[in-house]
Amino acid sequence: MAQRTASRWPDADLTSCGLPTPGTDLASLPTSRVVGAIAATKNGHCFLDWQLFQFALSMHSRVRASSTNVAATQKSILDLEAQTTLELQMSLESTEYAARVLLLDALDARDRLPRVYATMRLGLIDRDRFHRIAHETRIVFDEAIMRKIDALIAAEIVGAQHGYTCISVTKTGAMARRHVAEQDPDAVRREREGAKDGRSLGHQNLEAGMAQLFLTATAEDVRLARQMLDAVIAGRCPDDPRTKTQARSDAAIALLQRKPFTCECDSDGCTAAISDVELDARAARIVVHVLCDATTLEGGDKCGYLDGHGPISAEHVREIAARGDAVIHQHRLDDLLEPNPASASGAQERPDEAALHRRAPRSETPDERRGDGPRPEVGTGDEPAAVIAKTSLPSDPYRPNLLTDLIARFLWGTCSIPGCERAAFACDLDHVAEYDNVRPDLGGPTCVCNLLPKCRYHHLVKTNLEGFVDDLWIDSNGRYHSSVTTPMGQTVEVLAPNQWLIPRLADLRCTHQLAGQHATGTASGTVEDGPQRTRTRTAAKHARRRAERKANRARRLTEQPEPIPEPEPVSEELFSEELFSEELFSEEFDYDEPPF
Ligand SMILES: [Zn+2]
Ligand SMILES: [Zn+2]
Ligand SMILES: [Zn+2]
Repeated sequence: MAQRTASRWPDADLTSCGLPTPGTDLASLPTSRVVGAIAATKNGHCFLDWQLFQFALSMHSRVRASSTNVAATQKSILDLEAQTTLELQMSLESTEYAARVLLLDALDARDRLPRVYATMRLGLIDRDRFHRIAHETRIVFDEAIMRKIDALIAAEIVGAQHGYTCISVTKTGAMARRHVAEQDPDAVRREREGAKDGRSLGHQNLEAGMAQLFLTATAEDVRLARQMLDAVIAGRCPDDPRTKTQARSDAAIALLQRKPFTCECDSDGCTAAISDVELDARAARIVVHVLCDATTLEGGDKCGYLDGHGPISAEHVREIAARGDAVIHQHRLDDLLEPNPASASGAQERPDEAALHRRAPRSETPDERRGDGPRPEVGTGDEPAAVIAKTSLPSDPYRPNLLTDLIARFLWGTCSIPGCERAAFACDLDHVAEYDNVRPDLGGPTCVCNLLPKCRYHHLVKTNLEGFVDDLWIDSNGRYHSSVTTPMGQTVEVLAPNQWLIPRLADLRCTHQLAGQHATGTASGTVEDGPQRTRTRTAAKHARRRAERKANRARRLTEQPEPIPEPEPVSEELFSEELFSEELFSEEFDYDEPPF
């Protein structure tokens, strides 16, 4: 039996790629070097995935060149793909299935997604993410449309180099799905017809006398069913010993068997609220939120967004809107606006859209092309006629009004902490710069420039983890960014993943931006300096965070942003200012256990 070749990897000097010299005692390295090495390893992982595709393609050509004699069997078991797979599975010591997936992805990379493939070489996405993109785009058969989708997805990956658009495989897939749905609605329609026929219910037996039931239905029906289960189990008394997951299982079985769901505490004073009346009251508050452009309801191709699921095709939005239980609300961004006192014309002029769009020559950056008009620059003296100002409840300036709440949730889609997938409507809306109850003018504002969705777990992290700072800012192109700095000093910046959903937002400015505050509350350096103010621990922590945000911002201003490459021309559809969403569920939210 042949001796295995020893791997040279452990001795390879990859210091030029950012890895430590082989044999380095990691404990001797400063934290920043370890942080850099982790990122370098990620880039290397993506690059090696790129390299593996190259080798698979090379093997594919070699097999083709050497197998002219098996032409007769091409159509049978030994076609080119099967032969190449056989070679790959031997080299990789993998299953036939894994080798075939590799080959098919490599062929997709070469033939259908060359620009997306190039981003693997840059260390931006790995094979798992590429596979998900290839999977989402497989329904597209038109070559011209496919080229455009390839360019759009690649631009999004590259343009968001610091934006972590692809922070998870799920978000990568959602981004690809949106481009497919908008560029090739017919393909999505065909796929969806077939997919709906795939509704099913199955089960399998497990060990120890257990079994599993799976249900496949539309995304909205599954979300509604899931919320119904949460409404049922919300009635348990505090002494019920079950976890939420166990209780949901019991609730589903009770509903399916038409038996009552009961509290499992032993307490005589059980306070469970699970009568039919109480259950009906909770069920009546169940809402699944969808946001879309008004043009989508009128037959347009622009995607909508289903909370907890992701982008959905225009056709899918219209199906949901046509349901008997759908409630459609129209919202206008204009309702947030007030005349800008700083504008020469603003004092008299009604804040009409035309006035906002009649400024400055058209800008050329790719992201701006997505919008429908030039962006009024901040601080150029060319002040917009109207600004976002009506964002909080008149009765309670701490709480956002309905439209501000909707925008803050849909703009980010999920908990704003990178890598957290918790649905935005299951999150708290957190004031990034802390709201000051005593002097609201000194604290962070209740505004889209200062509100981020945070799941209960990450809200607790922010509150309790010393050195954890987040931030939110809007750049001169009107793009919304957030960042997180960890206690070990790592800062991750993220572009709002769903700004495509509300493109006009990029044309608007809020009063805080115009005042140069940018949601920092840093303009109010007097908070901690005020001699009359008692400095509590919380106040001190907030002051420290403000200082850190300020330092982070100073750093961003000095760093040159990397140039964003131009994507293929994007069709420019006019954006209507009218949005709709289903009714806002403004009751107190119910939270899952933290993921850890
Ligand atoms: Zn009980
Ligand atoms: Zn603001
Ligand atoms: Zn979270």
